[in-house]
Amino acid sequence: MIDFNALLKISYGMYVVSSGNKDKKNGFICNSVMQVTAEPAQFAVCCNKNNFTAGIIEKTGSFSISALQKDTSPEILSKFGFKSGRDIDKFKGLDLKYGDTGVPILLSDTVAVIECKLKQTIDAGTHFIFIGELISSEIINDSAEMLTYDYYRNFKKGFTPKNATTFVDKSKLTQVIASEVFQKYKCTVCGYIYDEAKGDEPEIKAGTTFKDLPDDWVCPVCGAPKSDFIKLQ
Ligand code: FE
Repeated sequence: MIDFNALLKISYGMYVVSSGNKDKKNGFICNSVMQVTAEPAQFAVCCNKNNFTAGIIEKTGSFSISALQKDTSPEILSKFGFKSGRDIDKFKGLDLKYGDTGVPILLSDTVAVIECKLKQTIDAGTHFIFIGELISSEIINDSAEMLTYDYYRNFKKGFTPKNATTFVDKSKLTQVIASEVFQKYKCTVCGYIYDEAKGDEPEIKAGTTFKDLPDDWVCPVCGAPKSDFIKLQ
């Protein structure tokens, strides 16, 4: 048997993987990042073939990994997780530097950064697995805790975009968590779902209706106002 709910128990880190140069650059939020060997230190990142960044990594032969902080701003989660670099400059207004290979490295809201030179590309169907050798690395904020996928999903109630490696179609899930009497409202900007049954703990108690949310309440993922939400049927 396959229980897709079991897959949601597995946690990861949350990173921004970037590539390009001063003229053309992009990055995306990636939870599938891991160190694969120690000597030499090599890292693997999974990237959907449709991501704008995939083509840039293939072309430039380098990428960077920025490990995100637990309190990463909704702006970064929204831009790098739910918007395309084909439409906007995701780095605009954020701190960044360029690595030894010329690759952009996001510094805002990051714990540590890693720069890699592409060594191998594995075709994994919908995604590429890019394996790169460590070129440079640096701690950016020694006192900050890392954002984990578990925290993002269960505490920030973050949504998993379709291009992510861990996306699971809701129709495949067998556990029904929310009570039927409560309504759900969806953020039209990032896809976050406010579930009245669950609230938005710890700030908003479970059982708080959307109507009763304060007028200045904003989407905890992307910062969109209440007016950008639609009721789900
Ligand atoms: Fe949102």
